[in-house]
Amino acid sequence: MAKADYYEVLGVGRNASQEEIKKAYRQLAIKYHPDKNPDDKQAEDKFKEAAQAYEVLSNPDKRTRYDRYGHQGVEGAGQGNMNMDDIFSHFGDIFGGGGSPFSDIFGRSSGGQRVKKGTNLRIKLKLTLEEVANGVEKKIKVKRALACDGCSGTGAKNGTAIENCPSCSGTGQVRRVVNTMLGQMMSASTCSSCGGEGKRITSKCQSCNGDGTKTVEEVISANIPAGVEEGMQLAMGGKGNFPPRGGTSGVHGDLLIAVEEIEDGALKRDGKNVHYDLYISFPDAALGTELEVPTLNGKVKIKIDAGTQSGRILRLKGKGIKDLNGYSLGDQLVHVHVWTPTELTKEEKTKLEKLRSSPNFNPNPDRNERSFFERMKEFFQ
Ligand SMILES: [Zn+2]
Ligand SMILES: [Zn+2]
Repeated sequence: MAKADYYEVLGVGRNASQEEIKKAYRQLAIKYHPDKNPDDKQAEDKFKEAAQAYEVLSNPDKRTRYDRYGHQGVEGAGQGNMNMDDIFSHFGDIFGGGGSPFSDIFGRSSGGQRVKKGTNLRIKLKLTLEEVANGVEKKIKVKRALACDGCSGTGAKNGTAIENCPSCSGTGQVRRVVNTMLGQMMSASTCSSCGGEGKRITSKCQSCNGDGTKTVEEVISANIPAGVEEGMQLAMGGKGNFPPRGGTSGVHGDLLIAVEEIEDGALKRDGKNVHYDLYISFPDAALGTELEVPTLNGKVKIKIDAGTQSGRILRLKGKGIKDLNGYSLGDQLVHVHVWTPTELTKEEKTKLEKLRSSPNFNPNPDRNERSFFERMKEFFQ
């Protein structure tokens, strides 16, 4: 049987993150789990296939080999002959916590004692190149769920009107014996009366209507380090939402900040360096001058030597962007272009005609003057 592409099996893109891969596998594992599909050979195959795909893609080493060589690259590493025990050994990893694989499939260990974590908040943050270069403290306005004061986040009146769910005796799970392809097994599924929470509120808190949370608008101050890049994600732990009915053990999710760079009209970023195109007039190039150029920290004066050729690159050391680790600093590279006039008055033409035959105006490149590409090489070594 030809093997299906592992990325297609999990329904993720080739550059999916580990988190996405895990999530995709978790969904498939729940969907095709033998408990839910007794005596269904097709579901069993899908279940195994997803497990194999996850086995490979969740391991960075195997994933690299798979990306490079396909199925051949990962054969002999237990592929193709995974049994159900191997597959269930993943579940501790996927669903968190160890113990019996079956008890954890639905994301809850027995007793309903699992710490509840709220959802993450995601925002996009636009930064100018100056902010990227120097780092910046940003005030970010977010709407997020906090624990309700009236019930300490439990959702129950005065925080006390709670009892164990009678259907599951507070465990959040209903256990039953099921027939699987491995024989009879004890299986646990989420208690439908309490949705797996194991608790029942007998009298709802009035200020949150039993949810245990209240949504507030908050201004969060985020320290953005110098050197971040478009596409990077910064996480601020605990600045996300409080989980519904999280009670005293509930923890907030995280605030995830996706960095976006605002393009700068004049300065172009290239890693740690920034590039700037400087146009100078022909008289300035021939006679030399001093000019101001913009940098990420305001304008600076630079000297143009007499006889400067078009294409010269001037390096402003340390005027680039700090490396994210803070150990190195990029430069600004000023690319000099000598501007050739495109419109001339009669008088200007006459003057230039006189210079045309002047020997000094004949191009006479210095043999030692290196080519543009050689100079570029020097800069990027
Ligand atoms: Zn229950
Ligand atoms: Zn409340």
